[in-house]
Amino acid sequence: MKTVITRIAPSPTSNYAHIGNVRTLLYNYFLAKKFGGKFLVRCEDTDRDRYRPEFLDYFKDMCDWLGIVPDASYWNPDTTIGSFTQSERDYSDKIKFLLDNGLAYYAFDTKDDLDKAHKSTTNFKYDANTRTSMKNSLTMSKDDVDAALATGMTYVIRYAVPANTDITFTDAILGDITINTNTVDDKVLLKSNGIGSYHLCNVCDDHDMGVTHVLRGQEWINSTPFHILLYKAFGWDIPTFAHLPLIMNPDGKGKLSKRTAHKYGIPIAPLGYTDDKGIYQNGWKDLGYDPIAFINSLSLIGWNPGHDVEIMSMTDMISNFSLDRVHKSGARFDMDKAKWINSQYLKNSTNDSLIPFINIKDSRYSLEKLDMIIDLAKERSDFNRDLNKIVDLFYNDPIITNFIFDDNYKKVMSSFIDNIDSVRFNNTGSIKLTIAAICDGFGIKIGKVMPGLRMALVGGFSGPDLMTTMSILDKTQTIKRITASLIKE
Ligand code: GLU
Repeated sequence: MKTVITRIAPSPTSNYAHIGNVRTLLYNYFLAKKFGGKFLVRCEDTDRDRYRPEFLDYFKDMCDWLGIVPDASYWNPDTTIGSFTQSERDYSDKIKFLLDNGLAYYAFDTKDDLDKAHKSTTNFKYDANTRTSMKNSLTMSKDDVDAALATGMTYVIRYAVPANTDITFTDAILGDITINTNTVDDKVLLKSNGIGSYHLCNVCDDHDMGVTHVLRGQEWINSTPFHILLYKAFGWDIPTFAHLPLIMNPDGKGKLSKRTAHKYGIPIAPLGYTDDKGIYQNGWKDLGYDPIAFINSLSLIGWNPGHDVEIMSMTDMISNFSLDRVHKSGARFDMDKAKWINSQYLKNSTNDSLIPFINIKDSRYSLEKLDMIIDLAKERSDFNRDLNKIVDLFYNDPIITNFIFDDNYKKVMSSFIDNIDSVRFNNTGSIKLTIAAICDGFGIKIGKVMPGLRMALVGGFSGPDLMTTMSILDKTQTIKRITASLIKE
């Protein structure tokens, strides 16, 4: 078996990489790594008019954030292959080969000529039927062609797609696909500015870089028959193609787009960016997502890992990945699940790894207690930034407004303070038993005093487990907080 080589080939033209691109990147990465192969990142910058270098910087920063290190990339090429940026690669020998073998031809049609053709024929397509009536090296004499070239007349080079030929390939996700060449036009290989077209460069680079599997979005499926024609023309091995399902809106209606993602509160891009209107758009990173949790969430949009376990490490995702479990049809985006996955990652994080996110205000707590505080905080948080809402409760005495501590509460808690020396604070059971016994003595249900106690200790109606909270606060701080509530009007 050949070494599996996959790639993602961003075009720095229309968008900052969005979640669809990232998912394509991930599946390519998983497949390569699963088979001990290579994952490449190539820059497809043949469209010079719409070139935006900041998209390339963004792509690299995104890979850094995701922790994806390509085996070769446009920022770190494999020198035996040469540049991983198409504008720096030379395709002239490939063009020459196609011209020499009569598979490609010069087309001198001006914009006016093409406009006329479009006007006179509805759905005009430059192809086997129409090329015979256009201005190209197949219809012109050799002398005229030479003269046109010698005088510097503008031209493109087109591929002569054969008429009415079925091209069949087996898509690793969708199965057998047949597309007739009557739907394919004579695509441009070399543009009038002398730069190779997407189709030419994409196929030549995939071959030169040894790409064995082309995983890309379903929007490319109609380009594949033409790419196959090119592989055949050059006599090259055809890679395995796999076209990935669309990512759909959460309601399943329509494709997730920048606009609909915004409507559903889904960040369209992994990192934040400033859009063309100068407005900063939050990315997943800004929302506080752990990069691996984000990868885990995205990996499940359109792929079934084959078991019920949804929380996976990078190693799990790589080893479980399989193209035959990628869905054929569009997969819905589920933001609640993404949030849940992030919270699971947080809960599984070691407390030590969370220390950088924790506001430790002073040294009043031992390491053991800090551990208990972080455990409580993790339990009630979805994101790292939520942790301090719980942690702060242990450093700041609560500010209580709009709450009346009733007589039952005051009776029970005064007695609790009177008996505090008998309470073993390192034992949550002992704290609870003491309160329960006092409640019993007064004939008051423990449930009646708990809301007051929670308010006194943490200033709210909800929060971490109360007995554990008291155990951490310990005697002095517990006395202080309860006493404050007892004297409150
Ligand atoms: N440059 C193309 C893109 O922007 C790559 C398509 C492909 O993967 O062949 O997505």
